[in-house]
Amino acid sequence: MRQSVNIVGAGLAGALLAVQLAQRGFSVQLFERRPDPRSSVAERGRSINLALASRGIRALESTGVMDRIRPLLIPMRGRMIHEPGVPPTLQPYGQKADEVIYSVARAELNRVLIEEAARHPAVTLRFGQTCVGIQPERDVLRFRDAQGGEYELALSPTLATDGAGSVIRNALAASGHLKVREEWLDHDYKELSFPPARGRHALDPHALHIWPRVGFMLIALPNTDASFTATLFLMRSGPLSFASLTRPEAVAQFFRSEFPDAVPLLPELTREFDAHPTGQLGTVHAAPWRVGGQVLLLGDAAHAIVPFHGQGMNAAFEDCTLLESLLDSHGDWKTLFEAFEQLRRADAEAIARMAVENYAEMRAAVLDPGFVRRRALALELERQFPGRFIPRYAMVMFHPEISYGEALRRGVIQEQILLELDTAADATPVDLARAAALINSRLPAL
Ligand SMILES: Cc1cc2nc3c(=O)[nH]c(=O)nc-3n(C[C@H](O)[C@H](O)[C@H](O)COP(=O)(O)OP(=O)(O)OC[C@H]3O[C@@H](n4cnc5c(N)ncnc54)[C@H](O)[C@@H]3O)c2cc1C
Repeated sequence: MRQSVNIVGAGLAGALLAVQLAQRGFSVQLFERRPDPRSSVAERGRSINLALASRGIRALESTGVMDRIRPLLIPMRGRMIHEPGVPPTLQPYGQKADEVIYSVARAELNRVLIEEAARHPAVTLRFGQTCVGIQPERDVLRFRDAQGGEYELALSPTLATDGAGSVIRNALAASGHLKVREEWLDHDYKELSFPPARGRHALDPHALHIWPRVGFMLIALPNTDASFTATLFLMRSGPLSFASLTRPEAVAQFFRSEFPDAVPLLPELTREFDAHPTGQLGTVHAAPWRVGGQVLLLGDAAHAIVPFHGQGMNAAFEDCTLLESLLDSHGDWKTLFEAFEQLRRADAEAIARMAVENYAEMRAAVLDPGFVRRRALALELERQFPGRFIPRYAMVMFHPEISYGEALRRGVIQEQILLELDTAADATPVDLARAAALINSRLPAL
């Protein structure tokens, strides 16, 4: 196995992978198109903050970087639902004290990972280097440097962590090495900010706030500087859409009528709405993820997903740990890349599907009394049948030992059990004997 590796993209996955491979004795060249974040202001890109959950935490812990990341985290213990005219209500994510997810600033997290990579003498960091092409036949990767000069490098082996818009993936698709299908949502997003109120968070900082409005929603995640980053998810076109909100008066009126309690928290609403970019959301299905032992796509480059389960980064970190765990049992890059794809593909497809489903849950189902009742029932069944019945959200967010594929499969069975137990409008108390019979006959032991 060649001991010198290229990684293209020093985002979340690329920077973590560089640390992991350096710890395993590889020499790593890490290329990144942006300037060095340690000496420049972060560019305004996608999502200022992200939800970190147990899959990501497990990867960060096993790499030994979690101690530096913990101070950046704000625990969020549930969804705070904001409905017009009633006080906000908290729907807890889990029932144990540690069943929380964490808000973390993307730029800070990325900077710490890059600093950790830079500490290893075996990692060479190359900022301002944009990958512009790949030719497996000639075993060549092509880059453009910050001055516009182009140069070529030996390709094998390269790990492509260049994100959702991956140049490497698209170039390999154009040259027929892989196939790509992109499924775009017809909803876009825009980020806004709730500044601190008298130096403190304007809302409870230990929750992910949601203003669900069925066809669209506003959410807000806390930052450590006492601000919140809010994100509006809304149709791209149509009568009520980003396309219809072109004038400041229309924006102000839309927020006054749909999110009246959020308006006082958004002093810069119309300016930010105009100045901040509108982002697109979609799922990327690519196959295969590799060309021989020359190149492997990981993270968003391989399987970008919509953000509604808060799992894209978590899945990307899990990719890195899986690849690292396979190093010992594979003597060459080709079989390593094959094994990675074989083990990971079904899980990537499962989380892509669950992420899309979660959009409907966040913007609409949380308002449905039947959904709220079945959620309470699911938590009760988890208490009564621990280790056997675990709500799907908890499997994905708090149980990294359960794969995404397994969470999807069990989730389908569990949903059916919940529907059967929840026949009456008020299904309390739960018929435990019936629940036990359904669970024992349908839900395999973990
Ligand atoms: C609105 C939104 C909210 C989200 N919320 C969450 C969340 O709450 N929780 C969660 O887990 N995930 C979330 N995600 C998903 C998460 O952002 C991604 O899954 C994660 O960033 C993937 O990491 P990555 O390293 O694969 O890609 P990235 O983090 O995008 O890194 C790619 C890197 O490659 C660099 N690059 C790109 N092209 C080139 C090139 N040609 N040459 C050199 N370098 C290049 C980029 O500059 C970047 O540094 C969200 C995404 C969005 C859009």
